[in-house]
Amino acid sequence: MFIKRFTLGLLLTSSLLLASIPVAQAADDKLVHLYSARNEALIKPVLDKFTEQTGIEVKLITSKADALLKRLQTEGRNSPADVLLTTDAGRLHRAREAGVLQPIQSDVLAKAVPESYRDEDGYWYGLSLRARPIVYAKDRVKPEQLSTYEALAEPAMKGRVCIRSSNNIYNQSLVASMISTRGEAATEAWAKDLVKNFARPPRGGDRDQIKAVAAGQCDVAVVNTYYLGVMLSGNDADERAAAEKVAIFWPNQDDRGTHVNVSGAGVTAHARHRENAIKLIEFMASPEVQSWYARVNHEYPVVDGVESSELLKNWGEFKADNINLTELGRLNADALRLMDRAGWR
Ligand code: FE
Repeated sequence: MFIKRFTLGLLLTSSLLLASIPVAQAADDKLVHLYSARNEALIKPVLDKFTEQTGIEVKLITSKADALLKRLQTEGRNSPADVLLTTDAGRLHRAREAGVLQPIQSDVLAKAVPESYRDEDGYWYGLSLRARPIVYAKDRVKPEQLSTYEALAEPAMKGRVCIRSSNNIYNQSLVASMISTRGEAATEAWAKDLVKNFARPPRGGDRDQIKAVAAGQCDVAVVNTYYLGVMLSGNDADERAAAEKVAIFWPNQDDRGTHVNVSGAGVTAHARHRENAIKLIEFMASPEVQSWYARVNHEYPVVDGVESSELLKNWGEFKADNINLTELGRLNADALRLMDRAGWR
């Protein structure tokens, strides 16, 4: 009797163990937690496809970029996050500096993502490319009157420039790119003159700058192209009408090129599903996903040889500034201080 019970107990225990260990591991293996600053609609179809192809379930948390970084810092090693997906190289660099990312080695990513669009030590990888050119009022400005970001600070542009505030990382990164190529003194002189040309104190986002140009409050603005893409293809008739009144001008084509930036991702410092995290980022750099992801966001693929959308093709080819984007992060604090000294609010 005793033996019987003992054997039964042993059998039960061992079968429970056998049953529970693989199940726990399998569940653990087939999971990845993603913190995304991009909203669900722009990312969910990619994640579903990833799950379909790999069997790895993606737990998605979306929030504002700066909130996500703060959350990762607060959670520390208790964070469930495995991947951080966010926008702007300046911000990705900030995440690295804050210690919330870890470096990864991936032959797939090293091959797919051009060197200038990823962190040199593998802390983050660019996954989509955005350009920040000039937009102008078609009825009041001739493209021949435009040339460079620098020229927006010339007296001819007095009272005609709209641009968002210096709080915004996009402008911080633009200024950082100028510090990198032109030096701090020249960039500061430029920023001071540019501020004098502002049509109004900076307010609103990039879409608001486009609307202000359309409404005649200013003649030119500096914006990320995907905002124009969203306005042109969206359902809001007023936004569409505003967007149709402006055109894109690619600045600095005879020198360093138009300022570009990325959205990108990195594996978190305390990722519990590190391999799955790498798989997910690699998946996002695959040509098929690159094409889709760039299209829905009206951005450009980072991977070479992947076609962009018809809308983007209509805006024409341009020469992009090929500065290594880690520079934008490295010079972010300098850019911010410079903009402050220039009175760029
Ligand atoms: Fe944006």
